[in-house]
Amino acid sequence: MVTKVQHYINGRRVSGRNERSSFVFNPATGEQAATVPIANAADVADAVAAAVKAAPGWAATTPLRRARILNRFLRILEERTSQLADIIVAEHGKVHSDAVGEIQRGMEVVEFATAAPQLLKGEITENVGTRVDSYSVRQPLGVVAGITPFNFPAMVPMWMFPVALACGNTFILKPSERDPSASVIVAEWLKEAGLPDGVFGVVHGDKETVDALLHHPDISAISFVGSTPIAKYIYETSASTGKRCQALGGAKNHMIIMPDADMDQAVDALMGAAFGSAGERCMAISVAVPVGETTANRLISALEPKIRGLKIGPGTDPEAEMGPLVTKQHLDKVRGYIDAGVAEGAKLLVDGRGFNMQGYEDGYFIGGSLFDHVTPNMKIYKEEIFGPVLSVARAPDYDTAARMINEHEFGNGTSIFTRDGDAAREFAHKIKIGMVGINVPIPVPMAFHSFGGWKASIFGDHHMHGPEGVRFYTRMKTITSRWPTGIRAGAEFVMPTMS
Ligand code: NAD
Repeated sequence: MVTKVQHYINGRRVSGRNERSSFVFNPATGEQAATVPIANAADVADAVAAAVKAAPGWAATTPLRRARILNRFLRILEERTSQLADIIVAEHGKVHSDAVGEIQRGMEVVEFATAAPQLLKGEITENVGTRVDSYSVRQPLGVVAGITPFNFPAMVPMWMFPVALACGNTFILKPSERDPSASVIVAEWLKEAGLPDGVFGVVHGDKETVDALLHHPDISAISFVGSTPIAKYIYETSASTGKRCQALGGAKNHMIIMPDADMDQAVDALMGAAFGSAGERCMAISVAVPVGETTANRLISALEPKIRGLKIGPGTDPEAEMGPLVTKQHLDKVRGYIDAGVAEGAKLLVDGRGFNMQGYEDGYFIGGSLFDHVTPNMKIYKEEIFGPVLSVARAPDYDTAARMINEHEFGNGTSIFTRDGDAAREFAHKIKIGMVGINVPIPVPMAFHSFGGWKASIFGDHHMHGPEGVRFYTRMKTITSRWPTGIRAGAEFVMPTMS
């Protein structure tokens, strides 16, 4: 049965005004699961009008009341995690337990946002001058929008909207058109939790929709997560249309394995970080950098059988460790990268291209792949593959390994496996990457810290959620007040100084 996904505007599902739509596929079967409408400028204008209308009332709602609604939403999410995970599995393809994991990580941001009254506390200085007090408050921006990628259809929107709403903004979400259904359910659950109509809207679509959001004069800020070329475009366009913007891009995350590392621990960590969610994670480890030939040989001999033994299956199979890729086009792209690696002279030790999933021959499955002797000049080293392909790039020493990471275009996450505190500290202190793990393969910060990379993995100044999220979704106002004798004293014509 092919379902029709709808937009969610002003507290209800609507079909939209555009003729254009797109297809959503079940990656495990290759069958068309749904159609999704592509919002045009008129649809976006409808969503923005509803958000503009709701904005003053929501901004005036006390932070505590806003937090209570988020608290009720949190309880709904807790009760219905599995239902939301089923929707993610059907459209994204990841295994159910992994979908549950992403919802839980999203819920942590909702939990963080329920501290709204605490988060929005301002600063005050009594007596900045004689009988003069100064205080700073953070106020909402108004209508803000989020544009999100396919790989975390629940978690990435939840990096944004809980904080935006807690801060008193109204929010329009443009989720990925490849797995759009989770967003609509979430919108309905927010309403059930007590969120007024218009405070949260969903418009589906592609570039046409995104451009309408970027050019709408009533949207104050854009949060984006996706690939680097689009992140750059979003940031540049937002700047030219006068919007605040945080745009997170792609990644190529390295893990250094030092000679003294616990090899069993490192290999297990690497397996999950490289092949979990079929490598379709911005924090996936796609390059392993063993230091020294002995370390490299030990690593390879432990990895090879584990990769061959990966349990691959549809996301509904509780035994499966890795599901299919998201679309046929993405499958072709990942295969193309493996072809390119072979052509460039990297040594393909495990080849996932021939993998056949019995009973799911039309699904977008591929096996895990392992390349050895990958070098920084190769396309498979330079570009983000976003699939279950692990490259081993051998380094003779720590300095070479660290230099490789520092010289790479991307700067999202990285990690080191070692027992040596001195090496770990040097790495944490000097490496030019936004999120660093020490014996932790995927160092995704918890909700009360902030998430974001460096270099070509981010455009804009603010990371997401945590304190940075609060700063992004609010603007500061500083009030200086004097009561009332200073005014009675008459006009002053010199530059005010706090005497
Ligand atoms: P994508 O860039 O193709 O799409 C992201 C969003 O942009 C989607 O909503 C899409 O509809 C929209 N979009 C696509 N093309 C557009 C265009 N030409 N103009 C305007 N909007 C456009 O990314 P994706 O394939 O959905 O997701 C995978 C990418 O996201 C990977 O590069 C991954 O590293 C990145 N990602 C980064 C992070 C992070 O935190 N840095 C997190 C998750 C994913």
